[in-house]
Amino acid sequence: MSSDATTPVLRNCIRLPLPEDELLEVTAKAKDYAIMHGAAMRSKTAFSQDSLNFAPFVLVPSSFPRKEFEKAVALQPIINRLMHNVAHDEEFITTTLAETIKVDEFTANLFNIYRKVLAHGFTQRISLGMLRSDLMLESGCPELSPRALEDRKDGGQDAAAVGKGAGTAAAAGTGRKEKEEQKEEEEQKEHRETQLSRATKERERRATSTQSAYCCWKQVEINTIASGFGHLGPASKTIQRFVLSELGHADKLHNMPNNNALAGLCDGMVKAWDIYAKPKAVILFIIEDVSYNICDQRFHEFYIRETYPHIKVLRRTLTEVHREGKLGQAKELLLGSQEVAVIYFRAGYEPGHYHSQSEWDARYLMETSLAIKCPSIHYHLAGTKKVQQALAQPAVLERFINDPEEIKAVGKIFTGLYSLDDNEAGNATYEMALRTPERFVLKPQREGGGNNVYGVDIPDALKRMSRVERSAWILMDLIHPPLTKGYMVRPGGDMPPQIVDMVSELGIFGVVIGDAEHIVHNYQAGHMLRTKLSTANEGGVAAGLGALDSPYLIDSDDDEDLDQI
Ligand code: ADP
Ligand code: MG
Repeated sequence: MSSDATTPVLRNCIRLPLPEDELLEVTAKAKDYAIMHGAAMRSKTAFSQDSLNFAPFVLVPSSFPRKEFEKAVALQPIINRLMHNVAHDEEFITTTLAETIKVDEFTANLFNIYRKVLAHGFTQRISLGMLRSDLMLESGCPELSPRALEDRKDGGQDAAAVGKGAGTAAAAGTGRKEKEEQKEEEEQKEHRETQLSRATKERERRATSTQSAYCCWKQVEINTIASGFGHLGPASKTIQRFVLSELGHADKLHNMPNNNALAGLCDGMVKAWDIYAKPKAVILFIIEDVSYNICDQRFHEFYIRETYPHIKVLRRTLTEVHREGKLGQAKELLLGSQEVAVIYFRAGYEPGHYHSQSEWDARYLMETSLAIKCPSIHYHLAGTKKVQQALAQPAVLERFINDPEEIKAVGKIFTGLYSLDDNEAGNATYEMALRTPERFVLKPQREGGGNNVYGVDIPDALKRMSRVERSAWILMDLIHPPLTKGYMVRPGGDMPPQIVDMVSELGIFGVVIGDAEHIVHNYQAGHMLRTKLSTANEGGVAAGLGALDSPYLIDSDDDEDLDQI
């Protein structure tokens, strides 16, 4: 996708290739190990409620720069707080999504629920956020290329034009006073400069060959609904730990960081359950009609039952909630006679989950209930791509974060994100995308993978839309992660597997619980790594393109094991 012959390669944790007999033996064993440890999914091609396939996985862990991993972990509580504050800022959400909901029916439906709940007041003021911040290493990170930064005379007109007059969501807020206009102008100028530096980055990177595999990372997206892999993240480490040990590299296991995602996320649900404080109330998982990624839901359920034997988990589709659900006297959500304390949405993030008005009615019923939702509707809206784009605009972070150091740290994780609203800035983005589409990815307000448009396909897609329709989308700089080389093991795949070029995406989980005034719990909760072929645009594991992986932490000055192939 975004790699070429100049893309840097991260060194492997062990020397590859493996001798063929050893590879065959360890791969066969690892497949069984995966199935028998729940690193598995239902087959889409031969579906059966009664059987599982192993989930695709990378045989040995992919390298990841230790410093960047630690930075991501340390930043997560700040991102949690940011998203919590964003979710509770009615004006920001309303202003930011104003254009989008005119043309995007799905977001408009979510927003309608939000509007109705706002009008009637929130029955439950506490929200449970179980977030996942997804990121990729940027091999052309300008921070590592001081030479490139000094020499940026000839490029950047495109993004400068976009920055010019780019209305920010914060600036679009109501009641802004005249005396603030000068400040706003300064911010715009600063913004233009930021955009300029982002836009020239790629050109400079190639001109000066300053790419590094030990680079900074950029946020791909932040998920506030159905953030999966709480089980499969740690399970990936379990498989790869087994494989490294089988191959005689137990001495390297200390470079695989602990991963307590499953416990962290489930404990978050139980903390919310405790706040609800009704010993008989249950935790409800909202599920798709068919759950292919079943292990990543059942293990949550099993963990809760095993760790907290008194808490019951129920699973229901939106359709079933519509049929069985009602509100009690105090607006408690009742499924039959069972009261629901916490609702964990593993479905409801895409239009296909709402077959009719019934499912929307079920969502609204739950939203107006006393149950603590993960996510509540405002959290869901805070996770839209449009909000992510607005957050990357200058001075917006100041609205949500007080500490200047934290603002700086969060500001650095954004790559170029551009509005396609029907205004001057949006039109400049449009022109820029037509001129240099290969630099970008075009994203609608959807989750779950397979919705984006990449590079050379962007002009046609944009030209098919009206100016107004474009505001349902955002444009984003493509991130250029370094490559890793390794074996990807898939059900029905080659035996032995071939060595392939891959790129990885790290997800850091966070849990945050609170209301508009107070945050009562806020912590980082483990991680997951997904790896895809470097030629694939997207790498959803459930979608069949990615593979389970886990990070092997390396330092750029390590030379003890320079195991390149
Ligand atoms: P979704 O909500 O559908 O998961 P994402 O924004 O995560 O949407 O995009 C899906 C996938 O597309 C990501 O997992 C990643 O592989 C790829 N992708 C998204 N944005 C970028 C980007 N800016 N640069 C490179 N790849 C990207
Ligand atoms: Mg994603």
